[in-house]
Amino acid sequence: MNGNMMFQPLLISSLIEHAEMYHGDTAVISKNTDGSMTHSNWAQVAKNSKRFANVLQSFGLSLSDRVATVAWNNHRHLEAWYAISGSGLICHTINPRLFPEQLIYIINDAHDRVVLFDKNFVHLIVSIKEYLPNVEHFICLDAYDSAIVDAFPEVKFYDQLLDTQSDQYVWPELEESLASSLCYTSGTTGHPKGVLYSHRSTVLHSYAISMPDSLNFSAMDVVMPVVPMFHVNAWGAPYTAAMVGCSLVLPGPMLDGISLVNLIDQYHVTNALGVPTIWQGLLTAAHQLGSQLHSLKRNVVGGATCPPSMIKTFRDVYQCETIHAWGMTETSPIGSVNQLKAKHAELSEAEQFKLRFSQGRPPFGVTLRISDDEKSQQELPRDGQTTGHLQIKGHWIVDTYFGKNSNALTEDGWFDTGDIATLDADGYLSIRDRSKDLIKSGGEWISSVELENIAIAHPEIENVAVIAATHLKWDERPILIAKKSATSQITETDLLNYYTDKIAKWQIPDKVIFVDTIPMGGTGKVLKKDLREQFGAILLES
Ligand code: AMP
Repeated sequence: MNGNMMFQPLLISSLIEHAEMYHGDTAVISKNTDGSMTHSNWAQVAKNSKRFANVLQSFGLSLSDRVATVAWNNHRHLEAWYAISGSGLICHTINPRLFPEQLIYIINDAHDRVVLFDKNFVHLIVSIKEYLPNVEHFICLDAYDSAIVDAFPEVKFYDQLLDTQSDQYVWPELEESLASSLCYTSGTTGHPKGVLYSHRSTVLHSYAISMPDSLNFSAMDVVMPVVPMFHVNAWGAPYTAAMVGCSLVLPGPMLDGISLVNLIDQYHVTNALGVPTIWQGLLTAAHQLGSQLHSLKRNVVGGATCPPSMIKTFRDVYQCETIHAWGMTETSPIGSVNQLKAKHAELSEAEQFKLRFSQGRPPFGVTLRISDDEKSQQELPRDGQTTGHLQIKGHWIVDTYFGKNSNALTEDGWFDTGDIATLDADGYLSIRDRSKDLIKSGGEWISSVELENIAIAHPEIENVAVIAATHLKWDERPILIAKKSATSQITETDLLNYYTDKIAKWQIPDKVIFVDTIPMGGTGKVLKKDLREQFGAILLES
């Protein structure tokens, strides 16, 4: 016998409808590409997204056609992505920092029929447009600008298009399993792969991350997603913001520490989300500007390991609780969030703090296990000690990559993440490394993450990466690539001595290489592949 309750499909349009109806006057503040600010609210965002849905309808697109966005976090991008998914099309967010060849590959692989782009990407789009045979409409997310038309005669302008349409639009009642958005993995090996989210997976993920034991959004908050909307949908923050009716601050293209500190202080941001490198820049800027970041109560750190020293600084200096979360493009992205339990109140402060360094535990809706092999079904003990291949399943986890025929799962239906981790009995996850970044020295594994966490805590070090270098005797040995702070005189010996008593002697890196910049990918992660190509043979040279 079925239950006798109403059935309503879980749809992305219901998020924006809810925000419009119950939180219409709540602010949505956005930095434009030229640095000016736009003050909008959920009612206005909803109206414009309906206008843009009418624009898309006028193009004669079919259900599930792909519409790409190459844009920073701003109000037009937000309106457009609700319009695209809400009207039954697929919102394909693209990382503008990719090489042109990768952009061409991704746009063609997805068969995008429309490309929306921020004004500052005009030259990029002009340079690749002749290689995009499926794209019928190019739309600049801005007001009319004759200078752009000179370089790009067929371009349309978002603001002009909106002016032609009414804000009356009835969101269609779609199937909840319909695809809503598409995001490509960073493709560190081979071509990037598309992950196709559904309305259902997105709404369930939004519920899960809103909860107090998760990213903890409420109608009292002012949330600033610094993580770009093209990086796994800004980790779901703009959806959850509409669900709970919080205020949003969208930082546009300027993600340097000073710009972010100014936005936090001016708009009283209470919760912000970003990768560790963003927070590193923000902490330096807050110190320089003498800001106390008074309004910031919480910040969410993910995408790469959050160094314990950073969690400490946020707590001790700025009274800001850092929420360390783990996830990936294939997991929508939230797979675990670090929040303590009632029983941990009995622990000493030092013990609580230690627990806080891990990547946390899974919210309801996903399950984690570690396995002895990436294809294996042999689960390893959840004892906080045993390391294994991290696998996940749940409502918002990929099943099959876009355009592929066979699923991406183990035989018993789990997704192997490529991460090496431990799990404890409460489900707390500690990521030890990416499987391809682990260093195998004389048959023993060394975690690059552990070595990085130690070096980054040194006050004169700004950024680090540890990679495996080929070694004649031990196969591989760790070497440390480090960027010092501007005034530092630190030497290789000083930095290696800093490891003494913090880690077993045999794990201490063999060499330190000081560099001016550490190569970062489009989503703010260190490009270890490039470093391995550059320095991987350095121990063979002496
Ligand atoms: P992406 O799909 O580009 O977001 O990359 C996902 C990968 O980033 C994961 O498989 C992890 O290797 C890494 N990652 C994400 N969050 C964390 C975290 N909190 N700590 C350590 N690694 C992380």
